[in-house]
Amino acid sequence: MKKLLAWPVAAATLSLAAGLAVLPSQAAVPAVTEAAAPGRLSPEESEALVARVKSLLPADMDARLLAVQERLGLEEQELVGGVIDPSDYQCSPGSPVRDWLESTKASWTAADHGTANLISTLKPHLLDALLFPRPAGPLVFGTGGQDTTDITHSFRDLQRFWDIESGDIELTPFHGTVLLDQARLFQVFHRAFGFDVTTSTNLAGLISQLANQPQFDYGNHPTFTFNAFAFSNRGVPFPGIGQVADKILMGDGVLAGYRAVGLDDVAAEAIVAHEFGHHIQYELDLTATTLPAPEAARRLELMADAFAGYYLHHARGSALQTKRINQFVESFAQLGDCSFDAISHHGTRNQRLASSLWGTQVADAARPQSTILPSRTFGQLFEQKLPELIAPDAG
Ligand SMILES: [Zn+2]
Repeated sequence: MKKLLAWPVAAATLSLAAGLAVLPSQAAVPAVTEAAAPGRLSPEESEALVARVKSLLPADMDARLLAVQERLGLEEQELVGGVIDPSDYQCSPGSPVRDWLESTKASWTAADHGTANLISTLKPHLLDALLFPRPAGPLVFGTGGQDTTDITHSFRDLQRFWDIESGDIELTPFHGTVLLDQARLFQVFHRAFGFDVTTSTNLAGLISQLANQPQFDYGNHPTFTFNAFAFSNRGVPFPGIGQVADKILMGDGVLAGYRAVGLDDVAAEAIVAHEFGHHIQYELDLTATTLPAPEAARRLELMADAFAGYYLHHARGSALQTKRINQFVESFAQLGDCSFDAISHHGTRNQRLASSLWGTQVADAARPQSTILPSRTFGQLFEQKLPELIAPDAG
């Protein structure tokens, strides 16, 4: 089974093929140096580099990208026929954390947006984090390591709390600075996409030069890593790469977003707990369903919220009290979405609130308080509760 997108954000929908016709004049393209020097490119230079990247991509790039995404369960942008009736639900897509993310792009030019869309579409830094072992050295979460302790401790505690086999899950940072690392980018283009050495080298150089600009915080801009993932390929090798470890990926950008809106004291552990909930689903085969895509995704996402709520409130979990629970519930609910047609539909704000709070109520009901439900039992209780959690709420 595949990974699930954790946090829905507005992602690039750029069609790469559409850009193939726009071949840049070679003279307009700045030379790419071995180690791309940091610095702001003019809009014309950016556009020329973006066009150069597109010119290097094969005509079937959209199909290749889709194939890679499907193998990894990243096909969340695909839309399917509407199944959930949007008029049944209250939904407003705004949220402080999303507003904050938008505010970080306020000074961007059209060329900057084009560059960011290209990077988000190719997402070589994400593929690097998903497909390849993390680099040797200490684990660092957050751009300056601010979240390292919270995340590593939460993960360790979750492994102790839940009864699944979790020793093989790799807790992995998702850093935008990989966009400056030409060796790692090369590996993605060469091995994941199967491009030849010259093309892969050139693409790595161009992408790193595009990312290495001040308006992108030299790769650290939150838009590149505004996400977290639970991933399992269930032993199915990835072509050109082989076996890929089970992972939880934590993006620097999403952590920065929650810090910016004052939820950093709780968001990190809440997100890890949610992603861990997805690994429980993989481990227990709870992903199997006959529901159509948006409803299937909503069920899994709300279930992960419930697993998280249970752990975060339980006396032997994080034992968070009401005030902090409300904060974490809000942090989930802020990312509830209104994409009723999307394969990755996470549920609305109200549904995420209800699911998380239901998890805390189950923890409250534990007698004695030290009892931890088997994960399978908790999953069964959730299935019974689900129809109530997703009942139409529009007035
Ligand atoms: Zn999720």
